[in-house]
This record gives sequence, structure tokens and C-alpha cells, in this order.
Amino acid sequence: MNRNNSLNAVKLAETVMPGGVNSPVRAFKSVGLSPVVIKRAEESKIFDIDGNEYIDYVMSYGPMILGHSDKRVIKAITDASANGFSFGATTEGEIELAGLINRHFPSVEMVRLVNSGTEAVMSAIRLARGYTKRDKIIKFEGCYHGHSDSMLVKAGSGALTTSVPSSSGVTECLSKDTLVANYNDIESVKNLFLKNRGGVAGIIIEPVAANMGVVLPEEGFLKDLIDLTHENGGLIIFDEVITGFRLSLGGAQGLFNLKPDITCLGKIIGGGLPIGAFGGRKDIMEYLSPLGPVYHAGTLSGNPICVAAGIATIKAIEEDNAISKANEAANYLIKSLRDELKNFDDKITINSISSLITIFFKCGGVYNFSDVMKSDINHFKKFFGIVLNEGLFIAPSQYEAMFLSSKHTQADMDKTAFIIKKAIKEIL
Ligand SMILES: *Cc1c(COP(=O)(O)O)cnc(C)c1O
Repeated sequence: MNRNNSLNAVKLAETVMPGGVNSPVRAFKSVGLSPVVIKRAEESKIFDIDGNEYIDYVMSYGPMILGHSDKRVIKAITDASANGFSFGATTEGEIELAGLINRHFPSVEMVRLVNSGTEAVMSAIRLARGYTKRDKIIKFEGCYHGHSDSMLVKAGSGALTTSVPSSSGVTECLSKDTLVANYNDIESVKNLFLKNRGGVAGIIIEPVAANMGVVLPEEGFLKDLIDLTHENGGLIIFDEVITGFRLSLGGAQGLFNLKPDITCLGKIIGGGLPIGAFGGRKDIMEYLSPLGPVYHAGTLSGNPICVAAGIATIKAIEEDNAISKANEAANYLIKSLRDELKNFDDKITINSISSLITIFFKCGGVYNFSDVMKSDINHFKKFFGIVLNEGLFIAPSQYEAMFLSSKHTQADMDKTAFIIKKAIKEIL
């Protein structure tokens, strides 16, 4: 596969953007390759500036559940932009999108729109702290909640109570208020509550973890977590930026029938345009300015073009049964993979739910971050290089999901299973 145009563009990009990118995973550093530069995308396919075609499993890291360039969403964006781009005042679209979110997420009685998932989480955490008048937040190792300071923290090895920032530039002062527990380990959470009695404002969790690869919550874990948090006077925040409108129209909470206090959304609710949202119980949300003491604002929050794209996307998901279609594609692919890869059961683990899949180069199951870390990264690197050259665009990291859409076809799946099988046979 010829990628000369990409190679040249990347050289230029590196002179004007740090690492040549606006978000680090795009640099392909973890796989030691030069990144592809994208020209355009349509349905399940993405095309680079050399004219190479790939079946896309990055799908903008989640938003594109309808596939790329959906005609209805294009029309919504075009129509909205003809009326002006941004007003600094309320529009009817915002009310409609808030209503749609509320209809599918009954726990979200009120919602605020923001510009990214990061912003949604940052604001939700401030709200939880303001509402409970407590400082500490518990997160789980391996869960990603955007790049706000409080969330860029993971545990120092073995010592769950010491919080070491995972980015330079995050002050110790901030990171000490972020406590880190182990996913699927309720005892680790109990310990943190014991050691910080009366000090924990809340817990934030990806109800299905998808930023350390796909890791599913074990039976009862989320329910126990909600009960434990409430017993200790804290709030439970579900970060459904990936899972919202993907695992079900009502996200993971709809699928598992659970009710968090606050929910963060993003990705799909903007259909590929920048957006985020946080919402929850009315009495909590009314702590926000201008009604309450917790400040929150945004010049472009509820931007009419992003909102129009979001409304059109959600309506199209409903109309097309897009979630079931994406799930069917994923199930078909997983079945082929499991059949084809039977002989490699002792080398890989396939985790999946709905339209999210991760193939870990580790045997014996993956239930938390330390399992994830046992994956063979060299195997993943080789795997990535092979499948990219064969025409699959997957995330250049072992710690991401493959995202399927309603536009992934049976032919796509057959080709994908064939390529993956070939790659794995070659490596293992
Ligand atoms: C992507 C993501 C975020 C951050 O959203 P951005 O729009 O990238 O700021 C937060 N939480 C989860 C679970 C995500 O997957």
C-alpha cells in the first residue's frame, strides 16, 4: 500500500503541530508507524490522501454509529448553518435535544450541553463536589474521562491510596483529591470509603469500560457500586460518552436498568460534531448557575449546528434501528472470529458488548486494568501493521475498542474476519 502523500503530509504536520497531531493517539506512536492522513469517509469506509480505502473501525472513536456522511445529518447541518452559526442565546434545537436525551435517559431529568466529553466530565465533577460539599472523587484505574486535571490520575503501583498524576502539569494538590480504585473490585472501593469517611463527593465510572480496551462490568458490580456510594452520601456519575446511544438508546444504564445521579454524554449525541452533555436529577442540576452556586458556562455551548447534527443523528438511529444493525454486524464478526480463531484461545481474549469489540493479545480473560496490562504489545504492533496494510483502519492501540456502525456490511465483516485471521496466524 502506497502512502507517500501521507508520509509527506505528516512531515509537514510535525513542523506545525506537536507530534503532528491534535490528539495523541492519532500519531501512531504506540505502533511505531507513520500515521495515515484522511481525506474523506463514507458509510463504513474511510479513504486516505493516497486514495487507499479502509474498512473503518475507529469511527471517530465512537460518534459515527450511523456510518460516515449520513445524508440526513448532512442536510441537518446544511440547513442549520444557513440560519447562522452561533448566537449566544437559546435556540429551539437545544430544547429539542435536551428533550430527546431526557426521553431516552430518564435519570437525566435536566441536562446542560457543552462542547466535549472532557468538558461534560469536568463540569459534572465540579457539580458533585459543590452539591455534596466534599472534595474527593473516586475513579477507576484504566477508565478515561477526558483530559481535565482531576481525571488525569492513576494509582501508584500497589498503593491505591496514593494518587500520582499521569500527566506532568497536574498539581499534586489536585491529584490528591482523585482516588483510584480497581475496576470490578468492590472491596477496593470500600477501602477508599473507609479511609476517606465523609470526604468522598462521588464516584465516576465508565459503566462499560472502553478506554482500556473493552472491559465489561461483572454481574452486580455496578449495582453494588451505586448502593455503596449512596450509603456513603456520595453521588454516582456514569460516564456514558461512548456507551450513550450505543449500548442501547438509553446507554449502559438503559441496558442494565440502573439509575446514576449524574450522566455524562458526548460523541454520538453530536453525530461527529463537537458536543458533550451532563445531566441528572433535577435537585442536583439546579445547583448550577444561574440557579445555584456551582458555576458553569460556555460561549459555544449548545451550538445550533452541533445540536442539529445531534438531533438528526438520534432520530436516524431510532428510524433505522441503527443500534440493532450495528450489534448484528458485531455479532456476525465475533462469531466468525471465534470460529476462525479457535486454535488461538490460549493466546487471545475477545471482549465485546453490543457494537464494541477488543481483541486482547492475552489469554484467560480481561477483567480490569492489570489484566489489560498483561497484553502482549509487540503482538499488537505487528497485528496493527498487517491489518492496516490489508485495508482495516483500527485504532493504533491495544487499549481501544473497535467501533461498528449500522453501515458495516456482511461483506465488510467477511473481509475483516479473513484479514484478522490471516494476521493472527502470521503472528502467533
Ligand atoms: C472520549 C471520552 C471522553 C472525552 O470526550 P472528548 O470529547 O474527547 O473530550 C470522556 N469519557 C469517555 C468515556 C470517553 O470515551
